[in-house]
Amino acid sequence: MQPIDLAFDQRHIWHPYTSLTSPLPTYPVVSARGVELELEDGRRLIDGMASWWSAVHGYNHPDLNQAAHNQLDRMAHVMFGGITHGPAVDLAKQLVAMTPPSLDAVFLADSGSISVEVAIKMALQYQASRGKPEKTQLLTIRQGYHGDTFAAMSVCDPVNGMHELFTGILAKHHFAPAPVIKPWESWNETETQVLEALFAEHHGSIAAFILEPIVQGAGGMRFYHPEYLRKARALCDHYDVLLIADEIATGFGRTGRLFACEHAGITPDIMCVGKALSGGYMTLAATIATRHIAKTIGKGPGGGALMHGPTFMANPLACAVASASLGIIQQGAWQQQVEAIGEQLATGLAPCREFDSVADVRCFGAIGVVEMKAPVDVAKAQRFFVDRGVWIRPFGRLIYVMPPYVIQTDQLKQITQAICAWCECGK
Ligand code: PMP
Repeated sequence: MQPIDLAFDQRHIWHPYTSLTSPLPTYPVVSARGVELELEDGRRLIDGMASWWSAVHGYNHPDLNQAAHNQLDRMAHVMFGGITHGPAVDLAKQLVAMTPPSLDAVFLADSGSISVEVAIKMALQYQASRGKPEKTQLLTIRQGYHGDTFAAMSVCDPVNGMHELFTGILAKHHFAPAPVIKPWESWNETETQVLEALFAEHHGSIAAFILEPIVQGAGGMRFYHPEYLRKARALCDHYDVLLIADEIATGFGRTGRLFACEHAGITPDIMCVGKALSGGYMTLAATIATRHIAKTIGKGPGGGALMHGPTFMANPLACAVASASLGIIQQGAWQQQVEAIGEQLATGLAPCREFDSVADVRCFGAIGVVEMKAPVDVAKAQRFFVDRGVWIRPFGRLIYVMPPYVIQTDQLKQITQAICAWCECGK
């Protein structure tokens, strides 16, 4: 195998949120199997990131490989305009069966951000179609993250630093304060007062309330009370506003329930899923709406068409792999795996609380977060973790892990020990 040209990579290829003039180091990975990434020099790293929430079954999974091979022999891609195919229909059937019963109209998008764009378009087209064209704004919560495309960015919290540059040109929407992070036993009714006031004042212009249910991911790795979500659902119903649940990170078991909305016992009007949908194999996401929304859009302007249609929509290879991934989810082993990971993260990361450098430690489902008092030097931290045989990529002040569900106890121990060692050094 040719060596990977790292010099070319550094000079010519942008990586997520990096500069080409002062690039961060990149680690050359040549293969991945189970929960291990293999570096070019032969070192193996235990993966604590599941490739950003997605590789829940681990890498090189035989079922997913088989599904990809089988589909590749038939067709890798075909346009979805005027054509349909088995992988799309099979996957949509599974999505309709797994999501709450009222969600049954599926759009197969090619990334999480696009599924959010589509959800927003659905909401706007829905309102226009029912004679409420003045409902063009969105409501969301601070510290949220919904993607890097323009409509998605407009509902991300600009102060988290990811999209601040674009603030001036993004559509202006309403932001409620971020829900409080604290134990679930201590819910206080006053926490939603500002949210209620925003609904009362602006509902006439609001098409939809978009939020990440229970877990706010890239905007701060924050876990909030299910009562907040129940209140959000009730306010949406009362004020005639759609509820969009962005389950892109939380969907398919990560929080201990199949979907995070289940913690609050609520059903959104539109749900976005992605990441773990294809077990992290392929770039695929979906937006799933109620029949009522689909029917209403169908009676609307422009012949009732939902105005979105990317080239790689419903890519057959991605759909076939996603069907196999959902098949594994439906077998149900994830429940015990997520619970075990959660327990081990809670005990394994608890010692970090003792270190001066640490502001908070919090765990939920199969997610562990250590919030430092100061921003983490990413390059230095990555080197530290790679030297200890684990793959963790900190962000801002956050060191966080959401490993593949199939991680073993000793492997997860290596991860939590490495994090504790980093915190102990007071980095
Ligand atoms: N919403 C949430 C909650 C996410 O975590 C992400 C990805 N981090 C996105 C949307 C965007 O998905 P993608 O990166 O696939 O565009």
